[in-house]
Amino acid sequence: MDVELVSIGDELLLGFTVDTNTAHFARAAADHGIQVVRRSTVGDDADAITSVVRDALARTGAVITCGGLGPTADDRTKPTLAALFGRTMRFDDAIWESLRTRWKARGWPGEIPETNREQAMVPEGATVLPNAHGSAPGIWLEDHDGRWVAMLPGVPREFLGMMRDTLLPRLAARGAGGTVIRSRTLRTQGIAESALAETLGELAKDPLGVPLAFMPGYEGVDLRLTVRGVSPAVADERLAAAADALRARVGKWVYGEGDEDLATLVLDRLRARGMRIAVAESCTGGMLGMRLTAIPGASDRFVGGVIAYDNAVKVRELGVREATLEAVGAVSEEVAREMASGVRARFGVEVGVSITGVAGPGGGTPEKPVGTFCVAVDVQGEVRSLRTAGVGDRHEIRQRASQGALSLLRRVLARE
Ligand code: AMP
Ligand code: MG
Repeated sequence: MDVELVSIGDELLLGFTVDTNTAHFARAAADHGIQVVRRSTVGDDADAITSVVRDALARTGAVITCGGLGPTADDRTKPTLAALFGRTMRFDDAIWESLRTRWKARGWPGEIPETNREQAMVPEGATVLPNAHGSAPGIWLEDHDGRWVAMLPGVPREFLGMMRDTLLPRLAARGAGGTVIRSRTLRTQGIAESALAETLGELAKDPLGVPLAFMPGYEGVDLRLTVRGVSPAVADERLAAAADALRARVGKWVYGEGDEDLATLVLDRLRARGMRIAVAESCTGGMLGMRLTAIPGASDRFVGGVIAYDNAVKVRELGVREATLEAVGAVSEEVAREMASGVRARFGVEVGVSITGVAGPGGGTPEKPVGTFCVAVDVQGEVRSLRTAGVGDRHEIRQRASQGALSLLRRVLARE
């Protein structure tokens, strides 16, 4: 089943509110084989709402709106779409009664304001969609040709609640025929998007007939496979075959799947091998420690770290040699290696990890441009390091450096 989503609200157009509702709907709907084919956003304006919904109905005949169901004058969705369907509005006693009860149950002062009567107005012939998460019910309007629009409130808690307990079951019952839209994502790190595509060769385009999307970000490049309109079992089978084909070609860069996080994977691996870790961070200023300690249970593996920003701290706290700093500079694999070994020795643990780099925007040189970072790991005396040229602003470069250090450590730990 194809549907269109229309989010309604001036605040969305102005950018003060980010439209998270339709994104959540699209993800949840995929499990029911419901495909979102277009998302539109309009302001609280009757003409704009009419025109976008009319066009959407002409295309798919299946439209979900969110927003503009409140009791105030800027909430125009219901009367506007009632007019589009040629329906008058009627006052619904049952809704009004439940609004009044709700008001009292909440212990709010006085009687419910007359303004709220607007929320009890429904288009003639509409189905009221109950809202267990707020006051304004949703509305389902359908014409003689089976074209429909479902109106849901904009407040995320209400939208998501109604989506789960009312809308999705209703749409599923209407039938996408037991099919699903299902995705599987391989997460890669340490290889650029273009190099990944080149390495994949003909597999870069729809491996085994399964559409593939490249999604680059600071954590690396995610490869998302998506299968549409088949049974769950067939979807899983086709995704598995395509994922296997990708892994066979680029598996050495794949660190996980779905929303798996490198920090979690590294901690798991350290746990499996009975090792503890300490970090030495220059340009990331604690970001690596933050990533690791954000994972519940990190305390049994992570002992601490040194934010060695100034060279004097690298020397004093980590034992980096002055001679090394003078010869090759702070942003170098040599210094990164001494930092990793230094922190491992000082903290008396099995694994030391370090980061040093030029986060920018200033401080770059022709030999070490902004974005250059070096990471090193010392695993029980075996030292590995890596120099990379990252792109992005200061924040992104620091994120890339943290991810780069975790990735190198994962690879070294994976070897044994
Ligand atoms: P409304 O139903 O139009 O009265 O919206 C109520 C509140 O919900 C607004 O003030 C927004 O903060 C929020 N909201 C509306 N639409 C969305 C949306 N598409 N995604 C996330 N929040 C929204
Ligand atoms: Mg609104």
